[in-house]
Amino acid sequence: MSDRVIPIQSQATLPIPALRAPLSSAPHDTRGRPLRDLRISVTDRCNFRCTYCMPKDVFNDDYAFLPHGELLTFEEIVRVATVARGLGMEKVRLTGGEPLLRRGIESLIAQLTVALPGIDIALTTNGSALKAKAKALKDAGLQRITVSLDSLDDKTFRAMNDADFPVAKVLEAIDAAADAGLGPIKINMVVKRGVNDHQVLDMARHFKGSGHIVRFIEFMDVGATNGWRMDDVIPSAEIVKRIHAEFPLAAIDANYDGEVAERWRYADGSGEIGVISSVTQAFCANCTRARLSTDGQLFTCLFAAKGYDLKALLRGGADDAAIRDAIGAIWLQRADRYSEIRTAETAKGRKVEMSFIGG
Ligand code: SAM
Ligand code: SF4
Ligand code: SF4
Repeated sequence: MSDRVIPIQSQATLPIPALRAPLSSAPHDTRGRPLRDLRISVTDRCNFRCTYCMPKDVFNDDYAFLPHGELLTFEEIVRVATVARGLGMEKVRLTGGEPLLRRGIESLIAQLTVALPGIDIALTTNGSALKAKAKALKDAGLQRITVSLDSLDDKTFRAMNDADFPVAKVLEAIDAAADAGLGPIKINMVVKRGVNDHQVLDMARHFKGSGHIVRFIEFMDVGATNGWRMDDVIPSAEIVKRIHAEFPLAAIDANYDGEVAERWRYADGSGEIGVISSVTQAFCANCTRARLSTDGQLFTCLFAAKGYDLKALLRGGADDAAIRDAIGAIWLQRADRYSEIRTAETAKGRKVEMSFIGG
């Protein structure tokens, strides 16, 4: 028991810095990066136990998920998003845990749509509950959806989600989302050497010509429980090489500054793929993302160990100006660049779990 890894969840938070000068409407951090994206983890729970994210031996019946009262309410989430909007934030992504497990998620989307006209709202899901909800999500104002799918081979997929969930249902959900008008859909595949890398070409082949975009993601050392080793990472360059050998590819420009995925199009015009190389080609220099954890802590890096407790402010009677000053001051002093300085040692460090702060 003593050597068991205890995942970091709620714990001591960082002190919120004082604001030293008036805030501009788009503060830049110490490395010149604006705050453009807010990722919101709406639940720390999930019905999957993906081995690279919520391994079953840790996230089991003994694991203490957040009690309901600790979760930010929809009103609190909308308030933080509205303040962040006033500081330049342009995009919201709802994630988790599994965001479709949060009761009334459509209502949160509707509230965000009303409060933040013109905002880009996206959601990342494992697809398990998507078929039934796709239309309601679209009607509520959701614009884009990303569905995670690590393999088309049923046995491999069931083993990776470790919840015995079949591929067929995720594929049905992708179709339902496209029918509801949520396409083109991004499909996230985390590639782990010796586990699902034999599926890279099948995934490319399956979605080629469908209008959907598969994004191959390097297995990352998020959290402290997934047993990450560099040897398990397939560099994106290798993925591009493998696909290119079968289906010739050509590099294309990013859609916008700071886009995380590197884009490649099929030379025959049948669509595109993306690769996300957080490990082998760090993109910290353009990282414009903040993350709001399920219990209202603001994290300025996916690999941070601690966040800033916005919930205490929200529930302590702070007005919007005080919340704005807090988020602005946090952003102004941000210096994160974890992926640029990752080493075998830092990878072993204590970091917050992804399901808690949102992937
Ligand atoms: N449950 C939803 C899902 O799986 O799509 C949303 C949350 S999940 C944490 C968000 C994304 O992070 C998923 O696409 C997942 O595959 C990815 N992810 C989780 N752990 C990862 C890891 N160790 N390395 C790379 N990507 C990871
Ligand atoms: Fe759940 Fe998503 Fe993590 Fe898989 S990656 S365990 S579906 S939160
Ligand atoms: Fe952004 Fe941190 Fe990832 Fe670098 S390591 S890209 S700063 S989240």
